[in-house]
Amino acid sequence: MSEGLVTVSYIGATILFILTLGGLSNQETARRGNIYGITGMTIAIVATVFGPEVSGTLSYILIVVMMVIGGTVGLTLARKVEMTQMPELVAILHSLVGLAAVLVGYVNFMDETISFATHAEKVIHEVEIYIGILIGAITFSGSIIAFGKLSGKIGGNPLLLPARHFLNLGLLLLTIWLGTIFIHQAETGGGTFPLLVMTLLALAFGVHMVMAIGGADMPVVVSMLNSYSGWAASATGFMLSNDLLIVVGALVGSSGAILSYIMCRAMNRNFVSVIAGGFGTTSGSSSGAADEEQGEVIAIETQEVADLLTSAKEVMIIPGYGMAVAQAQHTVNEITKVLRDKKINVRFGIHPVAGRMPGHMNVLLAEAKVPYDIVFEMDEINDDFPDIDVSIIIGANDIVNPSALDDPNSPIAGMPVLECWKGDTTIVLKRGMATGYAGVQNPLFFKENTRMYFGDAKESLDAVLKAIQSE
Ligand code: NDP
Repeated sequence: MSEGLVTVSYIGATILFILTLGGLSNQETARRGNIYGITGMTIAIVATVFGPEVSGTLSYILIVVMMVIGGTVGLTLARKVEMTQMPELVAILHSLVGLAAVLVGYVNFMDETISFATHAEKVIHEVEIYIGILIGAITFSGSIIAFGKLSGKIGGNPLLLPARHFLNLGLLLLTIWLGTIFIHQAETGGGTFPLLVMTLLALAFGVHMVMAIGGADMPVVVSMLNSYSGWAASATGFMLSNDLLIVVGALVGSSGAILSYIMCRAMNRNFVSVIAGGFGTTSGSSSGAADEEQGEVIAIETQEVADLLTSAKEVMIIPGYGMAVAQAQHTVNEITKVLRDKKINVRFGIHPVAGRMPGHMNVLLAEAKVPYDIVFEMDEINDDFPDIDVSIIIGANDIVNPSALDDPNSPIAGMPVLECWKGDTTIVLKRGMATGYAGVQNPLFFKENTRMYFGDAKESLDAVLKAIQSE
């Protein structure tokens, strides 16, 4: 394939990737967005493999073998992974992008065949290597810790080292200093030592950064690592002089950064403070105390739930992580249909950080074919709760926790929540009295107008569906 054809293919792929992002911003067009993405990636791979950069039978054999291995692992993982494990799969995939940037950086550093027209070009290449490895190493170790936290292998509590902000600042200054030494030594063919030390520091920084972040702030970290993986890919593109990789990396990097901003705004957090660590942290004691003073909960049975739902005019369904665990979305859709047939106005209220990944609930509801026009973002419906007869909370906890608004010591203080308690009756579906991801007790469960409907969300809703169908 000629260089011209490769360039045209890369431009085509870039356009498709931009269309992908546009498509993925809305449930109705998400499927189309995915198709654009798959097509763009296929064009990109074909153009790269058959482009002028690859030559010799051995290279092709190696590429085919690696693609078969990678493809098989990817396919097996994608088939096996449960929907609830998606966030941790995404986190571990981010770590691979980081690792790739580190490896490409070292290979570029060791490659003696690369020649430069000017001295400035050589220095720029060395800076690219240094920054590429730096971002790659932070992304790699940070994503592995995020994987551990999301899968529950590492506890959600933040690790707060004394003087951690000074430690971070010190690491930053040390990295810059090592960078100048690296550039200086690379002039004479050296530089391995500062590069290795910087890599170790970057790995440690990645671990420290994610370990310092409290449970409820994890969404920001997930989207931030998504952004880092984009910048790592972009850095790899600079090292390999691959324009497509630079552009695609920048697309992922900037869209991840925008997502982090949206997440921060949704949680009423300051981005810098989240990254510096310390939110979602200290006040376990306050929630513990609140726990003891809460009082009794009022449990409810299937028939009462069915009666409350069928006698309501306005119903709000609030799904959370528990709906994903129970895989209850299809039953939710069936119940919605029955209620709407009875002329009851059913709407869905979606919190921006519900579940364990951005858009988690929207994906599940779309999979169950819930009509898009009755699914609302928190901002759109939060003022409507005083007019709601019944709010039904399906496996959600932190996103409906009133202490976020009225307990300044709560680890989730300041995070906007769905204010369902302002409606007539709130029914909460969960298995027991366990806390949510942030590890805080929820005063909603003890309110006078709240009814607890205990059990697995899928089994409970199946029973409710049967009851309302027979009414
Ligand atoms: P939570 O984790 O706060 O609560 C989920 C609740 O579901 C639990 O209290 C659990 O209680 C219940 N549950 C679990 N399994 C079942 C089941 N089979 N049937 C019924 N109930 C079940 O989830 P939310 O969606 O309310 O909040 C999301 C949290 O996750 C926030 O703290 C957010 O910051 C965090 N997070 C979000 C990310 C994102 O990108 N969206 C990423 C990382 C973290 P019980 O065990 O008693 O049944």
